[in-house]
Amino acid sequence: NGGASDAKNLRVKLVLLGDSGVGKSCIVLRFVRGQFDPTSKVTVGASFLSQTIALQDSTTVKFEIWDTAGQERYAALAPLYYRGAAVAVIVYDITSPDSFNKAQYWVKELQKHGSPDIVLALVGNKADLHEKREVPVQDGIEYAEKNGMFFIETSAKTADNINQLFEEIAKRLPRPAP
Ligand code: GDP
Ligand code: MG
Repeated sequence: NGGASDAKNLRVKLVLLGDSGVGKSCIVLRFVRGQFDPTSKVTVGASFLSQTIALQDSTTVKFEIWDTAGQERYAALAPLYYRGAAVAVIVYDITSPDSFNKAQYWVKELQKHGSPDIVLALVGNKADLHEKREVPVQDGIEYAEKNGMFFIETSAKTADNINQLFEEIAKRLPRPAP
């Protein structure tokens, strides 16, 4: 079944949003290829990857992942990018309060202009850099709770919580009637 979603096999568009440099591309590469390349350059051109995961109830979820090519810098282009997305993963860097503020901007934008039943996830990335932490984990937890979002801290570098992020999103997706 390479086509549309059915009750057992979902196919969903997932977008990542957040400041440049917070690790969006690295999260995707860790999830899809199991790799982390510390020398990787900023994404140039559109990047599209997909990955399928199986859940315990034997359903599958195919994520069609759109990684920005720097559209995050051009607010006016963002709606083209997140249109039709079932999932938005909003990423900040736990060492950067600025990036946490920007994440909150994206949450508001998606709440206003995203699909009505969009699943929003808030991700504090670079959790391996705990010595440089400037955003307390409690701030992420509280903001997400207030906004009814899923929250997790990850490290694309160590792979910590990367698979968990996508599994938890998969569990929260609205299911078509069987
Ligand atoms: P993007 O602009 O949001 O796509 O960010 P990138 O994925 O290109 O990552 C930006 C920089 O952060 C790169 O130098 C990465 O090596 C680094 N980086 C990404 N994720 C992590 C992480 O979890 N831990 C650490 N220490 N560095 C990371
Ligand atoms: Mg990138």
